[in-house]
Formats: sequence, structure tokens, C-alpha cells
Amino acid sequence: MADGDIELEARLEEQAEFEPSAEFVAQANVSDPSIYEEFEENWPECWERAADLLDWDGDYDEVLDDSNPPFYEWFTGGKLNASSNCVDRHVENGDKNRVAIKWEGELGETRTYTYQDLYREVNEFAAALRAQGVEEDDVVTLYMPMIPELPIAMLACARIGAPHSVVFAGFSAEALATRMNSADSRYLVTCDGYYRRGDALDHLDKANEGLDGVDHGVESVVVVDRLGDDGFGHDLKGNQHDWSALMDEHDGERVAPVERDAEDMLFLMYTSGTTGQPKGVKHTTGGYLSYAAWTSHAVLDIEPEDTYWCSADIGWITGHSYIVYGPLALGTTTVMYEGTPDYPTCDRLWETVEKYAVDIFYTAPTAIRAFMKWGKKFPESRDLSSLRLLGTVGEPINPRAWKWYHKYIGNEDCPIVDTWWQTETGGMMITTLPGIGTMKPGAAGPPLPGVDAQIVDTNGEEVQPGRAGYLTVNKPWPGMLRTLYKNDERYISEYWREYSDTDSDDPDDWVYFPEDGAKIDEDGYITILGRVDDVINVSGHRLGTMEIESAIVGVEGVAEAAVVGGDHEIKGEAVYAYVITEDGYEGDEDLRERIIEGVNDGIGPIARPEKVVFTPELPKTRSGKIMRRLLEDVANGDELGNTSTLRNPEIVEEIEAKVHAQS
Ligand code: ATP
Ligand code: MG
Repeated sequence: MADGDIELEARLEEQAEFEPSAEFVAQANVSDPSIYEEFEENWPECWERAADLLDWDGDYDEVLDDSNPPFYEWFTGGKLNASSNCVDRHVENGDKNRVAIKWEGELGETRTYTYQDLYREVNEFAAALRAQGVEEDDVVTLYMPMIPELPIAMLACARIGAPHSVVFAGFSAEALATRMNSADSRYLVTCDGYYRRGDALDHLDKANEGLDGVDHGVESVVVVDRLGDDGFGHDLKGNQHDWSALMDEHDGERVAPVERDAEDMLFLMYTSGTTGQPKGVKHTTGGYLSYAAWTSHAVLDIEPEDTYWCSADIGWITGHSYIVYGPLALGTTTVMYEGTPDYPTCDRLWETVEKYAVDIFYTAPTAIRAFMKWGKKFPESRDLSSLRLLGTVGEPINPRAWKWYHKYIGNEDCPIVDTWWQTETGGMMITTLPGIGTMKPGAAGPPLPGVDAQIVDTNGEEVQPGRAGYLTVNKPWPGMLRTLYKNDERYISEYWREYSDTDSDDPDDWVYFPEDGAKIDEDGYITILGRVDDVINVSGHRLGTMEIESAIVGVEGVAEAAVVGGDHEIKGEAVYAYVITEDGYEGDEDLRERIIEGVNDGIGPIARPEKVVFTPELPKTRSGKIMRRLLEDVANGDELGNTSTLRNPEIVEEIEAKVHAQS
């Protein structure tokens, strides 16, 4: 490390607060701090600000109908269509030649869709779906990787009022079958295969296996030919149709967007399953779309002129809200990348930022930790000066990673929004507004204007600043889930029972519980501490796994860590740490000791890891979240739980072997 770097690192280590630049503030969509008060005083009518970002075919009667909590309704009586809001109106408003989607294939091909192109494709595919028999309210399952046909299919579904259920392409056949069964979905759109790290993967084989597990009739399967000559020579079965052939059949056709009720379902999305069985989250047309558009406007600061890139997968809620619906509702250019960030080299993302002059970049902490591990030489070799705003989502970002992102990607010039939200919330809930707030690395920030979040103890009493408690949301918001698909009971028991008076019909007695632990500081900034069930009980002391992981990741040479509790005869539970090292620290004999000492000094002797296991990877979901429950099974020598929603299931056995070798 050069001396300058050491000084910089030391300065950064100290700095706890950052301000957006005057230049950023001057151009920001939202920069007047009075918005917080305005929303509070004018609640719930304040949410018209969000609804006003959309075109409505029929006015709503009421902003919020809270007469039957927790079954809230937003913009009731309003009529609209999501696909016409994301496509048609931009074509009609003179922006038809603006690029809607810039797609970058892993092998370097590119495809560009203007709003006019998107309009044509969405219409043709909507016509094709209709011809396959899809009717309003039929659930269409989309089991597709990051190819442009995925957002086209989503918007085509929205156009004809058929809710989509996107299943992440990396999921197993079993996961596909479970979701199709749960949603009673009789239509599937998929593809022959796709590329990963240069290799062609057979996707249709997996889709077919999944279809075998569907316990009701499947009317129609549409298959995109992604691989061309690299394909696996599948013959399409009787009810399977080639995407391009269908598009040719419906060439030039137009389908009038179906007028949907604000409360009609736009889509169904299953959660990651990090905490158990995936839940089928129902989102609506009016509330969800306004909320996605509003948060894209206020938090991501998106303008139509921008080139905006969210590197998530569309198979995750982040891709729904912030690759497809939010950005397209605002009429901007959204970038879609098919592949992995390290193919062919570790600067692929930065090369792409440079190539498209990306203005706004939104990613996950797990990706940032990977970039740190690969080293700053990769971003440094590219021109990233087009960037003006950065964001993260998915898990807490530790201050060290935040500062690295700020320095090496943002050139100390871009605000960072650390956005807390969930599949269930539809859009961002807790984060600074980039044009207003001081940023504090490690803390997501205050709740957004109009969002009422508190940190409480087990009795629902607000805890003192600095003390750990449970995050709750005390008022409904437009983007909220409406229920779990066909399971109102579970909707109440999962999210409301804990802190609500469930016999009451007064909305003030209903409190949403996201199942995350958190603390708040004197300025109202919230730090998310992780899932409430991610707690280890060592000799009667309750330790948050997040906190221990933070201490470990703070040790030089550590790129990433996961901590779980392993059964222990005396202590009840002992701390097991699974650690990925930074480049150049593999085989560093002292590292284990330094990790143990780091936890000792940072938290206390009680938290000292019993076992430190070095591993090249951790078991992760599509959104990059560590699946701790599997690591717990490994620690306890238990039979492994469900691995069907992992993106890298093979790593679990490798870790198991290492643990056995050590004991
Ligand atoms: P399941 O509910 O099935 O276990 P999941 O919760 O992993 O799946 P998501 O809805 O994708 O599925 O994840 C939401 C969770 O991610 C939040 O509850 C929170 O724990 C975590 N999270 C998201 N963003 C942040 C953030 N900025 N800071 C801290 N935690 C975050
Ligand atoms: Mg969850």
C-alpha cells in the first residue's frame, strides 16, 4: 500500500458522516428538507405525490381505505394499466426514440430497445399470450434469466391484466414446481438456456423437470431461443411454443391495455426463503407502481435523461421495482446485464459503466465485498466519472465496505443510499434522501417521508437511542403487500400478530413487523442489525450474528464472514465463523488468531469464535444473502435443510468437508 493510501484509510476510518456535494443537491429531484414535515402533516394524502407520477385512466375515490386493517387498500376506485404507464405514455409523449432498455449479454452482444421498440414487442407478446389462452387474472410464471424477453413478458402480462410470477432462473426444478403449484399457474414462459461464465447452461431441461412436478394441467409453455447454435437440441413438446415464431405470428398486432383496478394484483413474488418456506407476496397495480416510481424518483434520483443501472437480477424484488417498473415508469434508460460481474474479468461492471456512461448505480453489499476482495485496480482502470449516485440494498453494509464503495467507485463524489426494504414492502422504506441527508456509513438512515418506523422492545415500547430492539412500521404505505397469496391467515400471523391488537379494527392498533432487529440514534438514523432469529445464545448471552460478523469483517484480510451458533455442551451454543479471505491472504496462518482477537476486542471474550472455517464461498440466495440456517446445519452435523433456492448449492458440501476435517 502506498503511503497516501494509508493516510486516506486512516482518515476514512475516523470519518463517521458524509454530506452530498452542493452540485448533487442542486440537481436533485428532492432537496427540500421540509418534505418530511409535509408528508407527516398531510398523511395519507401526501401519497398523492406518488400517484401523480402515473397516468390514471380513472380517478381514485380515496387515497387510503383503512376500514379493514391490515387489509389496506390504496387509491381505491382508481383505474390504470402498468404497461401503458411504463411504455405507451412515453411513446405518446414524444420520447419514443429514447432508449428504454440497454441490454448487455455476457458474451458481449448488446441489444437496444427504444420505447417504441419496447411498445411493439410488448404488444406482440401480449397478443401471443392471449392467443395461448391467457385471460385476465391468470397467473403466468416467468422462469427466465436476465434477457430482454423477461421484462417484455412482464409488461405483456401487465398489459392484459395477467399477474406474473417470476421465478429466478438459478432456482431448481423443484422450486419452479412449488411456485407454479402454489400459484395455480397454468402458463409458463422460459428459455432454452443461457450463458454463465461463458458456458451455455441447459435451462429447458430444468424447466421440463419442474413441469413434471406441477400437479395441475399446464396449458402453454413459451420458450425463448437464447442459445441459437449453442443450444442443446431440445424438441419442443406439444404445448410448447417458440417465442420468435409466436412473435412472427402476431407481428404488428396491438393489444389495448386492460383497465385494471388500483387494487388488482400486478404480480406475485416469492421471498428468498432465508428464514424458512418462501412466502407468496401479492403486489397490486396502483399502490405498488406509484411506490416504485416515487422511490425511484426521490431516492434513486432518476430523470428520463439518465442511464441507470441496477445490477440485481429481475428474479428478485429489487429487479422488479428498480430495473423494470420504477425506472420504466419514469421513462429513463435502464441497463440490464446478463452475466456475472467477474466474466471475462473482474472489471466487467466498471467496463459497462464506462461503456454506457452510467449515471446511477444500484447494487448489493455482497457485490461490493467481492469488488473489495478483487482489489481497487479493477475500478481504477476504468473511467467511472459519469456516476453521480450509488445505492445498496439487501443487507447491512458495514462502514468499511461503504467507504470503499464511496472512494473507489464514487470517487468521493457520489452520495450513497443504503436502502432498507423487503419483498413485502414493494419499495424502499428506510434510507437517506440523497439530496437532503447526511450519510452515516453503517446506518441506512431515517424512514422515508410518510413512512412511520420505530424501534421497540418485546412489549412494543420504544427503546432508547443506541439500544437494540425490533423494527416496526406503524402506518401502512402504498407499496405494501396486500396479503400472502390465498393465505390471509398467514399474512396476519407472519407480519402483524406480534405487535398488533388483532381484534381491533382501529388501524392505529395494527403494527407491521418485518422481523428485523435494529437500533436508532439520536438523529433518528436506523441501523439494521439483521433478522431477529439470527441470534446466538452463548452461556445465556444473546449475541447478534451481524455484530460478530461486522467485527470479523473489520479484520484486515477478511473479505466476508458468516457467523452461526453450533450446539455446545456447556455454553449451549458456540460461535462458528465461516470466513472468506481477501486476495493475497489465503493461507495466512495468523489470520485465524487475528479474527479471534478482533472479536474479543470488538465485542468481548464471550463472542470469541469456537471455530473459524476458511472457505472460498458462502451459500447464498439469488439476492446474495447468506443462508445461515444451512451453515447451522453444517455446524451441528444435522441433515441439510432445503437448498433449492441457493445459487451455489455445491458449496455446502465443500464447507461440510472442511468442518469435519477440523474437528
Ligand atoms: P425470507 O423472508 O423468505 O427469509 P428474505 O427476507 O431474504 O426472504 P428479501 O425480501 O429479499 O427476502 O429480503 C429482505 C430483508 O433483507 C430485510 O428484511 C432485511 O433483513 C434485509 N435487508 C434488505 N436491505 C437491507 C439494508 N439496506 N440493510 C440491512 N438489511 C437489509
Ligand atoms: Mg424476509
